[in-house]
Amino acid sequence: MILSEKSILVTGASRGIGAAIARALAAEGALVGCLATTAERAQGTVDQITHAGGKAIALGADVSDEVQAADAMKAFLAASEGAIYGLVNNAGITKDGLLLRMKPEDFDRVIAVNLRSAFLLTQAALKPMIRAREGRILNISSVNGLRGAPGQANYAASKAGLIGFSKSVAREAGSRGITCNVLAPGFIETDMTESFSEEMRADVASQAPLGRLGTPEDIAQAALFLLSPASAYITGQVLAVDGGLTM
Ligand code: NAD
Repeated sequence: MILSEKSILVTGASRGIGAAIARALAAEGALVGCLATTAERAQGTVDQITHAGGKAIALGADVSDEVQAADAMKAFLAASEGAIYGLVNNAGITKDGLLLRMKPEDFDRVIAVNLRSAFLLTQAALKPMIRAREGRILNISSVNGLRGAPGQANYAASKAGLIGFSKSVAREAGSRGITCNVLAPGFIETDMTESFSEEMRADVASQAPLGRLGTPEDIAQAALFLLSPASAYITGQVLAVDGGLTM
């Protein structure tokens, strides 16, 4: 198992992409901190992992809040003997609307949950990673952070911001053996996208050379690689996992 003895914190791990990443990491032997808005919400993923013979703990926090984010990191470190090998900043929300009608609070909230959270948790994870002289940080952006999308000025800005953030972290922390990379998923079948019409799904699938929408497991396999020792010489990169949509 490629991640035995490693402890990894995954945000937004109650469902969708985060839950699939947590399961994939645990299947490779990692102790996984499954963080969601409440520990109760994360418990379902923890139960799936423990039933499959893996190790996981449930954590609850609003990751955009510095006190809650710091407390969650403390709780994780207490359960992992002070070590954190990996951090996956996956928690994210949308509050879509055309720019002319977008409320400032909807702009601010999306930036806070999707981008500020990555700043808070990465800052908290860096000290123990530097001490260990190894670490893997993975930020979940979106193809819409690369190319923009109508109605998603807030979301696309947060996801593009994650890319600049990650490249800066990669430059600052590289000499300590810490990598920081980005995944940019395309259209993935989760609760976040369940409201999309059949027509829209068929349209996106037909635009992707691979001819289908993505699954949370498609993203989890790419995440597993970027968190594994196999990716030791890769940092500051953005990997689109989108069926070829944005190539
Ligand atoms: P989802 O809505 O199914 O899950 C989001 C997760 O984030 C949940 O576990 C939720 O509890 C958590 N979360 C939300 N706000 C939070 C907060 N304030 N504090 C802590 N946790 C919070 O979403 P998903 O489709 O699994 O997406 C996961 C990530 O992938 C998001 O960052 C999303 O932007 C990104 N993404 C998704 C798609 C897609 O098509 N589904 C495409 C590109 C990028």
